[in-house]
Amino acid sequence: MEDVLAMRKEIQDLRTNARIFQLSKCTACTFTLDLPAVHFMCMHSFHQRCLGDNEKECPECAPEYRSVLEMKRSLEQTSRDEDQFFQQVKSSKDGFSVIAEYYGKGIISKTSNGPTGTQRSSSISSSSGF
Ligand SMILES: [Zn+2]
Ligand SMILES: [Zn+2]
Repeated sequence: MEDVLAMRKEIQDLRTNARIFQLSKCTACTFTLDLPAVHFMCMHSFHQRCLGDNEKECPECAPEYRSVLEMKRSLEQTSRDEDQFFQQVKSSKDGFSVIAEYYGKGIISKTSNGPTGTQRSSSISSSSGF
């Protein structure tokens, strides 16, 4: 029951979002959209006939998404920390601040290896306004 309700709400959201973000042109052929049309959450819209068999994923974004997945997979092999790093850079609006934060952490962890040894600095978060 709850699943159905959640799904209904999601569909409702999709509908309202689609109304807001709807493009008036088909991404594939750039002609004005008419029905039947397919709208993806990536804000790309297509004629159903332009999508052909592929209605599950946006052809504009799917290749990109796949390469991201591949990149993610290779990163997982090398280092999980690095993967997390890239995730954070990707998900943040300003990737540079994340990079700066990581650099800051690296510098701090190096220099804090002083006589107080195990006492890692807990005041790292002050550099957020960078
Ligand atoms: Zn089209
Ligand atoms: Zn797309």
